[in-house]
Amino acid sequence: MKFLITAGPTREPIDPVRYISNRSSGKMGYSIAETALEAGHDVILISGPVNIDPPPHAKFVSVSTSDEMFDAVHQHADKCDICVLCAAVADYKPAAVSPTKIKKRGERISLELIRTRDILDSLGHRQDRRFLVVGFAAETNDLEQNAMQKLRDKNCDLMIANDVSSANSGMESDANELTVLFQNGERQKISRAPKKNIARELVKIFQILQQKRLTKKM
Ligand code: C5P
Repeated sequence: MKFLITAGPTREPIDPVRYISNRSSGKMGYSIAETALEAGHDVILISGPVNIDPPPHAKFVSVSTSDEMFDAVHQHADKCDICVLCAAVADYKPAAVSPTKIKKRGERISLELIRTRDILDSLGHRQDRRFLVVGFAAETNDLEQNAMQKLRDKNCDLMIANDVSSANSGMESDANELTVLFQNGERQKISRAPKKNIARELVKIFQILQQKRLTKKM
């Protein structure tokens, strides 16, 4: 199988030295990439800025902004069987990027933000797509309900729900616990474990889904 995996945060510039970003470490996406490679799959890893070395056998595409990630994902998706969008893409970006460093002036300053393009939504709704689309939903409340809503809205094949309210799983942490939501409403829990073990479970689920899809078509 050929995987496209996004990982890490994006950086949305404010001026030449400042940006808006988030705490994503990239660990979950990189673990999925490594596990898929170990299982003999091909991987294109599209990553925002993180402190991890890319797996040596992945095709690695380094991006910074959500717009760069959007373009890279759409450029490579058609070559792939499955797109796993694990990156924590910024939902908003500055309406304008100052070409010069913004000076300290006055007591308050406000920054106008506009929506970024939703990569997952645009992939899920791509006409005649032949690849599977997997999204991640990081939530602090009403986890499964919000994740199921996203699965439907963004037309994904799978949504992986991730509780980021506790400090010892989810973002930055080495461990995670997840619930995998399927289009038919089924759920599968993966209990707390190191991200590498979680990645193995996920890759197995992706393989089964792909098998089912192929046998349905034949
Ligand atoms: O709606 P929300 O941002 O919570 O959805 C999370 C999922 O959407 C993740 O899979 C993330 O990678 C993806 N996403 C995206 N483009 C955005 C925002 C989120 O692909 N602009």
